[in-house]
Amino acid sequence: MNWVRMVFPPLVILFAAISPVRAARPGLELKNNESLLVVEPSSGRPLLEYDEKGYLDLQFPTGSLIKVFTVVAALKQDPSFKNFRTTCRPSRWSNSSFETCWYRQGHGEIGLEEALAQSCNWYLREMAERIKPINFWETLADFGLIKRQRLAEYLRWSRRETLEVMVGTGIRLKVSPRALLYAYCALFNGGYLFEASHTGPAGVFLRVKVSPEILRVIRSGMSRCWSEGSGKSGLLSSGQASVAGKTGTAAYYCSEDTGSWKTHGMFVGFSPQEGLPRAGIIVFCFSGDGRRAAEIAGDVLAVIGRLSSRP
Ligand SMILES: [Zn+2]
Repeated sequence: MNWVRMVFPPLVILFAAISPVRAARPGLELKNNESLLVVEPSSGRPLLEYDEKGYLDLQFPTGSLIKVFTVVAALKQDPSFKNFRTTCRPSRWSNSSFETCWYRQGHGEIGLEEALAQSCNWYLREMAERIKPINFWETLADFGLIKRQRLAEYLRWSRRETLEVMVGTGIRLKVSPRALLYAYCALFNGGYLFEASHTGPAGVFLRVKVSPEILRVIRSGMSRCWSEGSGKSGLLSSGQASVAGKTGTAAYYCSEDTGSWKTHGMFVGFSPQEGLPRAGIIVFCFSGDGRRAAEIAGDVLAVIGRLSSRP
């Protein structure tokens, strides 16, 4: 149990969860450069935390975990964005990441929910071009991802830097994994944003207003991420079916001159995917990718699901 640093009641979940987490899939062992946090979305209460290196409270580029909030900003600006479609075309590795999708074969013609599921950079780029920067930054402030008193500063960022942040390829905006998880929780618990404090839950920080239709689109896209999209590795490895999630592979070093990239992997997930989830998780893999993070999340959520269904 040395890998669980801190857990709040119910302790039965803590102690019963430890060995099943390791046994859920042969070979799963969390490395000390991997961190995870599980919370109860309805209360913000931490259930399980492993964070040997303290990554949960350090700030990192968001990667594609920001895409969901870009979509929220777009839909708040104009609800008709839910019908927005574009074409993600094939590209070469030599093409700039700013002008292409990570998926070099191209996703083809693609709509909103599929773009979230597949984490299509080109779709988000086309959408981002149409979002007023003030609407994007205010949405991040609504969800506690930036400080509202610094809005004027963010509005001075260059057009390109702002678009890169909206797509998830930029490295200038940095947010802690803990803050990202609580921001996502507000999409799953009726809009209650809990303070992202490493010392424990501190009650409701803010109430975020998001329309039911926006929440439906986001949750549907995140469910498809797990069942058919970029998070499918987690479904395949864990067998945990009812998860809504989002992968993120964030560049923290990149040189387009040398083609050298280093990335962190992240995954945010909620289970079950319908109604009020009993667990929300964020996994952070230093120098990893979203695929590995989704696999870890799947195993942990599967264990929590089994324990919660015990009579
Ligand atoms: Zn694409």
